[in-house]
Amino acid sequence: MSSSLDNFFHDPTDANTLSEEQRKKFEEWMSRILVDPERISSMIEKALHEGMHSEWEEESIQHKFKVGSYYPSMIEHCLRQQAYTYTSPIPPSKEDLAILGEGRAIHELVAMALRRSGLISIEGREVVVELEFGEGAKLHGRIDDLLLIRLTDGDSEDFRLFIPLEIKSISALPEKPRESHYYQLSTYLLARKFPMGVLLYWAKRGGGVKAFSIPRDDVMQSVLRERVLELHEALTKNLLPQKEASINRDFIQCERCAYSETCNPFLIEKLPKASQIALFDIDSVLLDSLPRRRAAMKELGLSPSLRASDIHDKELREKFWELYNSPKYAELDVLIEQGKLDFYKQLELGRAPVGISSARHDNIMEATRARLANLEIPLAHLIVRESGNYDTDIVFKTKWVLRLEGNYEIVEYFDRDALVSSEILKSIRRHRQKKSEVSLEQKKD
Ligand code: SF4
Repeated sequence: MSSSLDNFFHDPTDANTLSEEQRKKFEEWMSRILVDPERISSMIEKALHEGMHSEWEEESIQHKFKVGSYYPSMIEHCLRQQAYTYTSPIPPSKEDLAILGEGRAIHELVAMALRRSGLISIEGREVVVELEFGEGAKLHGRIDDLLLIRLTDGDSEDFRLFIPLEIKSISALPEKPRESHYYQLSTYLLARKFPMGVLLYWAKRGGGVKAFSIPRDDVMQSVLRERVLELHEALTKNLLPQKEASINRDFIQCERCAYSETCNPFLIEKLPKASQIALFDIDSVLLDSLPRRRAAMKELGLSPSLRASDIHDKELREKFWELYNSPKYAELDVLIEQGKLDFYKQLELGRAPVGISSARHDNIMEATRARLANLEIPLAHLIVRESGNYDTDIVFKTKWVLRLEGNYEIVEYFDRDALVSSEILKSIRRHRQKKSEVSLEQKKD
């Protein structure tokens, strides 16, 4: 039975509902709380986190990772990463839990809005689907919503179509469906022979929505099969599949991967851990790319002395960059004599020379390596910009320096840009200091 104190807590607008004794008790409590009001907000934060975690635990009991049963939402991800979720799963971070919760809430909101529209009916939610591949391996997932759409065409009969709908909440609306979402929806289409499905993106920032119609593509059956069986074979033989994201230079995936510490994706295969590295900026220290630039300008019918920034026409500028970065011109790069001297000095000191270039892209990597080898500059490793990376020069180099420092010791850094050099050296110092503080803390524990 609730007391008048409980009633007062519920509606504290009328203090006269309390007896003198209750009022004193209440004031005593409040004065204790007001000494440290943060206790209440922290309690709410903690409750929220624990509630979300317990929701996740309940769900993960129902959807336990079992070898042989793989997830359509993950199958496009790095195979090594997927394997870790079976061999050494780690609980989700606070951020992961928040993303899961947000996704669920948006799913509810979309379903409610679709129902209210009266235009579409939802025939099923969380519909289980399985796509078997033999050898005890399958993809097992759940369609967010199975929609029934009725179309009328003049006087003719109604046409009814079942459409699986996959809802994704995302920070910004994409231009085209994300590859991993395409794989997921394709699984549902193939498993139930639906002719098409819809991927619906909901922008968390700005609130826009964008839907993509995805027709079933039967070729995806063999794509999915190959991935599932490669993962399945590795897991059943107690092996780990290849470090797929790292091999494909999808470093954004590695940066976000919860298993990156275990996997160590930035360890260079041919370079033993703890080696001393001398890092060379290719474009300012080792190679003069002026002849390459001139050749590209000439091919476009422009004056060879122009710079890319002098080209104001967007299309023409893009063509210039395409030509400038094409492997056919890589052999025009000329060796910088001072760079060669520095390079050989580092070799004599027993350091592994590693080249870095934020200006060169994947497509010119092999040609650059070959050109350097022809010029008798044998690099231990070469780092170039991977596709989809738009970091500035300094951000690109700093990220790589920190990645390398995770396994090696960078003892020299060569870059003719003094500002970049000084920033890089500062980052190395900060990184080492932080590392030594952490190791001191660990020793104390
Ligand atoms: S760190 Fe990269 S290569 Fe390693 S498991 Fe994760 S995504 Fe795959």
